[in-house]
Amino acid sequence: MKKHNFNAGPSILADEVIDNAVKAILDFNGSGLSLLSISHRTKDFDAVMAEADSLFRELLHIPDNYKIIYMGGGASTFFYNIPANFLNKKAGYVNTGVWSKKAIKEAKHFGEVEVIATSEDKDFTYIPKGFEIPADLDYLHVTSNNTIYGTEYHEDIDSPVPVIADMSSNILSRPIDVTKYAMIYGGAQKNLAPAGVAFAIIREDLLDKIERDLPTMMSFRTHVEKDSMFNTPPVFPIFVLKESLRWLKSIGGVPEIYRRNQEKAALLYDEIDRNPLFRGTVAKEDRSLMNICFVMADGYEDLAPEFLEYTKQHDIVGVKGHRLVGGFRASCYNALPKESVEVLVKCMQDFEQLHKK
Ligand SMILES: *Cc1c(COP(=O)(O)O)cnc(C)c1O
Repeated sequence: MKKHNFNAGPSILADEVIDNAVKAILDFNGSGLSLLSISHRTKDFDAVMAEADSLFRELLHIPDNYKIIYMGGGASTFFYNIPANFLNKKAGYVNTGVWSKKAIKEAKHFGEVEVIATSEDKDFTYIPKGFEIPADLDYLHVTSNNTIYGTEYHEDIDSPVPVIADMSSNILSRPIDVTKYAMIYGGAQKNLAPAGVAFAIIREDLLDKIERDLPTMMSFRTHVEKDSMFNTPPVFPIFVLKESLRWLKSIGGVPEIYRRNQEKAALLYDEIDRNPLFRGTVAKEDRSLMNICFVMADGYEDLAPEFLEYTKQHDIVGVKGHRLVGGFRASCYNALPKESVEVLVKCMQDFEQLHKK
């Protein structure tokens, strides 16, 4: 298993996380049972949940007045759950791409939606800035990292209304000030776990704003009150998420992973900027550390399929760009080693020597 895994999601996990998952599948905690066939209502699984909670809090400095919940259904479930719970009159959304658009579409089922800023005018190649946030919004929704277009907010937003952020693809990749957000959520399959679980970090007072009479499973109150145990939680992905948090702590936590992520991204962006065969696709100041998008430069467009084939020959997986953007996307999530980026950069350099005009 030695491919350089640049998949956008589900995506790379640390080797030791996968090793521990394998062990637990064979024998969970010496119980003689597989992790795949234990009851979620056992002491041993309670311990997994408790450890995930305390590690998440420690790594992100999450204050006590925030609750962390886990649910199946993915980030997409939150696209409708969030407005169902919190959109009473009007919500504001920043439209920075495909995922934002999907969130906006679902919110419209529940009330008035104001798109208060958008980067659609330039094909989502930048993050809108300096926009005014109306004070009468129930909340403001942002997508902190745009997995498909490769743009990312590099600062937490100051807002007079509660900010709700989809952090599916950059959770725990850089330091954030959790207190600037009323709610943070995401699918865990980009940086933390295999597919099957979504997480949410919710400030408790937000729950007081729920006015709608909601089905039990749709209300965040249910999941907070029952500690994500109202129904069967996704046992296996939560275990792996806990292992990813352990791994992250063991290497030095968020400051260290941020340093590594910056280092990896700089390596690749420097090559994109230097190499005459390639060019980046988004505004430099908004470049994502997680999803690095690039295309063949003018005059070299025809070489795209050949470069993709070339990367495959060098054990590189998953750099084909999203069909909406084309070109290439190298997802450099937390667990991706620097060595993999170096191999990709070397490929770009060798390809340049083969084809430079
Ligand atoms: C992948 C992704 C989603 C969708 O997640 P699902 O868990 O598949 O629903 C939503 N938002 C962002 C930013 C993503 O990267």
